[in-house]
Amino acid sequence: MRLGSGTFAAGCVVIEVLGVALFLRGFFPAPVFSGTERQAESPAPEPSAGASSNWTELPPPLFSKVVIMLIDALRDDFVFGSKGVKFMPYTTYLVEKGSSLSFVAEAKPPTVTMPRIKALLTGSLPGFIDVVRNLNSPTLLEDNVITRAKAAGKRIIFYGDETWVKLFPKHFVEYDGTTSFFVSDYTEVDNNVTRHLDTVLKRQDWDVLILHYLGLDHIGHISGPSSPLIGPKLSEMDSILMKIHTSLLSEERGALLPSLLALCGDHGMSEAGGHGASSMEEVNTALVLISSAFERKPGDVRHPTHVQQTDLAATLSVGLGLPIPKSNTGSLMFRVVEGRPVREQLRFLHLNAVQLSKLLQENVPSYKKEPGFEQFKVSERLHRNWVRLYLEGSNSEALVNLGAKVRRQYLDALSMLRLSLTRRAAQYDVYSMAAGTVLVLEALALLLLGVPQALSSRAELDVPLLSPVSSLLFGLLLLALAALHVVVCTAADSSCYLCGLPWLAAGGVMALTAALLCAGMSALTRIFAGGQCLTQVGLAFQTPPQSTSRWSELDLLSFLGTVGHVLSLGASSFIEEEHQTWYFLVNTLCLALCHQIYRHCLLGDDCAPQRCPHTGEEFDGVAVALQGKRAGPEGWELSHAPKDPSSLEALRGPKRWMVLASPWLVLACCRLLRSLNQTGVQWAHRPDLGHWLTR
Ligand SMILES: [Zn+2]
Ligand SMILES: [Zn+2]
Repeated sequence: MRLGSGTFAAGCVVIEVLGVALFLRGFFPAPVFSGTERQAESPAPEPSAGASSNWTELPPPLFSKVVIMLIDALRDDFVFGSKGVKFMPYTTYLVEKGSSLSFVAEAKPPTVTMPRIKALLTGSLPGFIDVVRNLNSPTLLEDNVITRAKAAGKRIIFYGDETWVKLFPKHFVEYDGTTSFFVSDYTEVDNNVTRHLDTVLKRQDWDVLILHYLGLDHIGHISGPSSPLIGPKLSEMDSILMKIHTSLLSEERGALLPSLLALCGDHGMSEAGGHGASSMEEVNTALVLISSAFERKPGDVRHPTHVQQTDLAATLSVGLGLPIPKSNTGSLMFRVVEGRPVREQLRFLHLNAVQLSKLLQENVPSYKKEPGFEQFKVSERLHRNWVRLYLEGSNSEALVNLGAKVRRQYLDALSMLRLSLTRRAAQYDVYSMAAGTVLVLEALALLLLGVPQALSSRAELDVPLLSPVSSLLFGLLLLALAALHVVVCTAADSSCYLCGLPWLAAGGVMALTAALLCAGMSALTRIFAGGQCLTQVGLAFQTPPQSTSRWSELDLLSFLGTVGHVLSLGASSFIEEEHQTWYFLVNTLCLALCHQIYRHCLLGDDCAPQRCPHTGEEFDGVAVALQGKRAGPEGWELSHAPKDPSSLEALRGPKRWMVLASPWLVLACCRLLRSLNQTGVQWAHRPDLGHWLTR
């Protein structure tokens, strides 16, 4: 079977994509989530032994009204550090002396807005795939606090980042979304949220108010966390917080229940001003819960404690009297319920532990062996004893001691359950990763072996499908791979993606791996055998007899440049500016091409065919490469350039000028493309053509 070099390259690319996809499927583990129907179950009843406890309902809400003030990119030191003391005096007062609880909430990477909002409301650990969907966020279907609150008849109002409106299109009784697309605007985007406050705070027709301020994040993207703009923005946020808090306090006087004001950030801000990765500055966010329920006695010094960002979902659910979301992996922030009666405290902890252990059962086959699950069973038994003593009317010290013990046991169980679930969500699927890597490496080796000949447009490949040597090797390899597959998949506790595939699909992957290995080995044999047995063994390239496989400077430049560019992608410090090498390479290639053409056309040196037999091929190679890179009209012009440079001499009139001008045209187009959409941390905020066109 013969293949053109284009088909060969396309085939290799397809296999590469398949391999990379398989690798990524193993590298980014399947999310831990609950597959059961949302409304189906009633809450777990309070554990009881003998004596009849009939507390099967959910505990009542702790707060009448909840205001969530989310400030995008609110790093912990913006509130608890020196900046907070200087620019947020009211918040600092509340944190140090007021009735509040403060936390440093750790966000899990990717520290990007949409996955963080999801984590705050579902308590689950969203995967990296969410980054891709960040720009076009679909409706949140997973069980979450907002959906539960709406189902319970709570009226929710939202102002701020329109990501929320996309996530919850039908949940708010009133909303006003602001776009996060124009990073250069950090004033209007916040004023559009604040302008609603005066009226909405006077109204009584809502239960939950959510505000998402984007200004701070935009300042970070423009000029980083040390920018002089940060201070005034924090002061603005502080005065807004004061306004909301005073209004809530004045309304609370007649109400039965206190209200809750939660100040939080979705992610932090790196020293460069961006976010997305897992540095300390990006994952640590401030979280302050303000409510008169957290009244403190004189001399009560509270320091910010460390919690997970996902813990807020369970805490909000408890605060609003809602069931905890099913896929929640966080544990209740116990300090929030510390002021409640012991029976209620234990009930909250029990509900949280039941939810986490159910999630563990659904996601871990050997859940009974997990220490968290055992701990949960012990706590439940002790809890049962406590309830029996309590219902018998005992009021002794034993009851108090047992209560404290049950609470400690539950808290341990919660942290262990959370650990098991988090570990589960971060487990690599090594088998799929290895299979993907092997596929990618095989295709890469084949491509590299074929490069010298494939750069010539006349190359054709001869794939010997039925050669006896190849088919024997192929059969043996397939057998070995199948044996390996069976061994890996029957091993205990294996949850590999490949093992979950139907046999036909897994067999296809194995056959592909074996076939590629055969082809690679044949190509190697051919090279070492000096290319004498073109049709008998291996992958043969039919090249024109007069051309040799020597590489020209341009081939070398494009090959080494591409390799260098790929290597630069591995540098972590370069991760946001990697396109710069690409710009440099394309420009260099254009200039080198220009030099070559001009040398041939104007000076006419090296043109005699007998002196440089490979020049024609060289032109072909560049033309093919350029066609592949940009399918613009310039690429086509070049590909139609005369194959033999000596004929350039013969070209007269407009055609000659076209050949001479084409590299410059390509260069101009490259420049235009660059300014169409600025990219990279240092440049993204600069004005670009795309910006100007959409205006
Ligand atoms: Zn954000
Ligand atoms: Zn941002």
